[in-house]
Amino acid sequence: MTITIDGYAGTGKSTAARLLAEAIGYELLNTGAMYRAIGEVLDREGIDLEHVPRAVTKIRNIVKKCHFELRNNIVFINGEDRNAHLRTERMNALASKVGTFKEVREHLKAEQIRIATGKNIICEGRDQGTVVFPKAILKFFFIANAEVRALRRMLDLEKINSTESYHEIYDQIIARDLQDETRELDPLKEPANAVRIDTSTMKIDEVLMKMFTACQAVNIFKL
Ligand code: C5P
Repeated sequence: MTITIDGYAGTGKSTAARLLAEAIGYELLNTGAMYRAIGEVLDREGIDLEHVPRAVTKIRNIVKKCHFELRNNIVFINGEDRNAHLRTERMNALASKVGTFKEVREHLKAEQIRIATGKNIICEGRDQGTVVFPKAILKFFFIANAEVRALRRMLDLEKINSTESYHEIYDQIIARDLQDETRELDPLKEPANAVRIDTSTMKIDEVLMKMFTACQAVNIFKL
């Protein structure tokens, strides 16, 4: 059984996905981690991500060798857990950039389906309910206003002693939204029949309660 959670950066969907997975005993696949990991691989290979047309074959060859596994809800790429290196603003931008490449999206879609097959799993990302698992038993779509998302991001960054200003973070969020919503392939949009959750003024327990109610409505607990 697959549950999807899609939505904008900073809406709290990763936290909600983790808590819901724990509560209902589902595995969890964070697909953003897969885009980030591919961004890092291509960057390390010295690919100039701004000039894709010249490097398409090289990108395709590198990407198809990227094998993903899910161990204890952690995404491994080619046997390695790179997550500690993938949460910087630079990696945000690289992930968003590689998310526009056809070879990357096709490969990751196939990997996501392979990983989810036969499992009870929550798949979280930007295209899970629309493109990868359109027939998921339950789909969520997370939104929140950009000011709240920037503030949350700033508070998170302060914990790791980052000095980025609110305005810088706000601008990055708006830029990433635009990139995700307007890319030609699998743009971020609300899946059909999704349960929409606007987290702008909601506490995490309210969010979880809403998700739980939706799970009950489709009889997740009896399946
Ligand atoms: O969720 P996270 O912020 O880690 O995702 C990083 C970037 O990867 C997103 O901004 C988006 O551009 C891309 N992404 C995607 N499709 C997904 C998950 C992430 O295009 N399913």
